[in-house]
Amino acid sequence: MKRTYNFNAGPAAIPLAVLEKAQSELVDFNGTGMSVMELSHRSKSYEEVHNRASALLKELMGIPEEYEVLFLQGGASLQFAMIPMNFLKSETDAHFIMSGVWSEKAQSEASKIGNTNILASSKDDRYTYIPETFEDPAEGSYIHLTSNNTIYGTQWQDFPITKLPLIADMSSDIMSREFDVSRFSLIYAGAQKNLGPSGVTVVIVKKDMLAETNEQIPAILKYSTHSKQNSLYNTPPTFAIYMLSLVLEWIQEQGGLAAIEALNNKKASLLYDCIDQSGGFYSGHAEKTSRSAMNVTFTLKNEELTKAFIKESIESGFSGLGGHRSIGGCRASIYNAVPIEACQALADFMANFQKKHA
Ligand code: PMP
Repeated sequence: MKRTYNFNAGPAAIPLAVLEKAQSELVDFNGTGMSVMELSHRSKSYEEVHNRASALLKELMGIPEEYEVLFLQGGASLQFAMIPMNFLKSETDAHFIMSGVWSEKAQSEASKIGNTNILASSKDDRYTYIPETFEDPAEGSYIHLTSNNTIYGTQWQDFPITKLPLIADMSSDIMSREFDVSRFSLIYAGAQKNLGPSGVTVVIVKKDMLAETNEQIPAILKYSTHSKQNSLYNTPPTFAIYMLSLVLEWIQEQGGLAAIEALNNKKASLLYDCIDQSGGFYSGHAEKTSRSAMNVTFTLKNEELTKAFIKESIESGFSGLGGHRSIGGCRASIYNAVPIEACQALADFMANFQKKHA
């Protein structure tokens, strides 16, 4: 069997051990005589999967008692709308820290519901860094940030302490490192980068926020509805949640977030060292102090060389190295499931490509 070196930005690599476990259970899950996809979402067999995913997430991330974990649908994009619908109070602002296209989308959706204010932005500098300095507002509904900018390859290194509830889109770096959940009132992430296949969105929300839910919106859009029903208000994406539970077990087997973080840093260093030692043949998009350990973005001297790089990379068995259409260049997404061997192979390929084309 040949597995490709998968550097896709999302949907992205899933651990081989997880895929094999799912394969082995596909037609007969746990002696039920059917696939997990064919189980009723109200059955005991499914309920165990559902609750295990939630319990493992809490354990691995060290989520305190006063938080709930929800499994929703609609991707991170629905969260851009649900958050202001639930929590943006009239006559107050939702504050945004703008670090890329996904922050812009979150702000744009909120501005359709109420007032928004931009606290800080790195747009003027092509989003090459995290705009971490801002005046901490005392008035407003909440502050929103994007922890990792998938397109630009920048990442918050440490999170701010804020007076207002802090909300984070962690779609592209959730469970990639240890951090203090209690800084946040709400964290959300689409699963398709670090947590498994697309189809489920994880929301970690502080219980006191749930009490603030706007009661005037449809039930399906209210966090309190999903919380009261243990994310079983309507049919959840059962297969995606099952896959999430397998990915979480895999993270546990790797030694939890501390071990995953150490490995992620090693993987990222292999590629950043290659960029930094290339004498300008490769140049990183992100400023060094804001570099992402998940998405390594870089450019080559011109379009022609970039095209040759992508073409040769595909011929050598690498997938997904083209940059996002909005910034071009190249991007290697090295989420949790991308093995260090793939990063080493890419670093070797980059060094050889440079020798050939310098
Ligand atoms: N936020 C971030 C940081 C992302 O990277 C993405 C997807 N690439 C999104 C939000 C949108 O996610 P979805 O497609 O799940 O709506």
